[in-house]
Amino acid sequence: MSTKEGAATLDVRDLGDGVRLVAVDCRHATTSATVLVPVGAAAPPTVDVARVVIQRHYVAEGCACTARLRQRYGVTAKAMRTGGAT
Ligand SMILES: [Zn+2]
Repeated sequence: MSTKEGAATLDVRDLGDGVRLVAVDCRHATTSATVLVPVGAAAPPTVDVARVVIQRHYVAEGCACTARLRQRYGVTAKAMRTGGAT
């Protein structure tokens, strides 16, 4: 799954064997998370991982490229200030 939202792109790739890569990419940088799911365990919801990666990208880069992704995934200004996911 790859979603273009303005200048930033959200890419989610299942790499097999319980490994999933979630990445936010813009012209400034790429921020990613690798999710490792043990056999028999439930994977965390992709939307939750996406929210964390979007927030990390925004905090690290300080660019406005993720504005539409933040709006779409509900990453609020409050989360940016507190480091929380709400
Ligand atoms: Zn950017």
